[in-house]
Amino acid sequence: MALVCPLFSGSSGNSYYIGQEGEGILIDAGRSAKQLSERLSLCGIEQKAVRAIFVTHEHRDHIQGLRVLAGRLGVPVYASPGTLKALESMGVLNGKFPVYPLSLAGTACAGMQIRPFHTSHDCAEGYGYCIETADGRRAAFATDLGYCSPEVYTAISGAQLLVLESNHDVRMLECGPYPYPLKRRILSKKGHLSNETCAQVLTDLVRTGTQHVLLAHLSRQNNTPDLARVTSLGALAQIGAKNHRDFTLAVVPEANPGEKVLF
Ligand SMILES: [Zn+2]
Ligand SMILES: [Zn+2]
Repeated sequence: MALVCPLFSGSSGNSYYIGQEGEGILIDAGRSAKQLSERLSLCGIEQKAVRAIFVTHEHRDHIQGLRVLAGRLGVPVYASPGTLKALESMGVLNGKFPVYPLSLAGTACAGMQIRPFHTSHDCAEGYGYCIETADGRRAAFATDLGYCSPEVYTAISGAQLLVLESNHDVRMLECGPYPYPLKRRILSKKGHLSNETCAQVLTDLVRTGTQHVLLAHLSRQNNTPDLARVTSLGALAQIGAKNHRDFTLAVVPEANPGEKVLF
């Protein structure tokens, strides 16, 4: 069995550990290296277990601790060619750790197969990741996407564990204090997935065999964990799917630090 530890999720930082207790990878490093290390040890994961860091895109909430942590651990960093170019120009790649551009063919790491897919987001070249463990189980990470493109659907269908963005409640966003251009950006095809769209996507995916759902990257301003959960559970109830019987669903910011999801 493999495990996923959500270390941080949301606009103030994102990072996940996936693998076994003894070896695995990080998806993103969006908090300080110190905070990431502390959270890892809270999960019972030693730093030397981290074999590589896979980056989704260059926004600060995904790379804040990348330079320091990758340098300290001396592990390779993988990302799309576009993201690496952006990171280079931001001065994040300093030669203290190896960097590899990742094609859609993916790569093997820590006994797993890691395959990226493109996300539609306002960044250079965003990736989500689909990860197959040694025992053939699959986990998919799909956050920071304006909509669920056919490429995303195909990649995440059939994953037993799915980390899916449930960023905002559309009405809260529309009535909230954000300036109009920012609202437009979030709602656009290159923005973030709403609770409503997330719920719709889940109704398809639970039918394709998704067993564990983690709702992630919630907006603090335009969402609440309850609203995200109720929206998805409501849509799933309409197709006759019940929490704890047909699937399990949790909201990441509520997950206790140190919590692990086995799949
Ligand atoms: Zn982003
Ligand atoms: Zn983000």
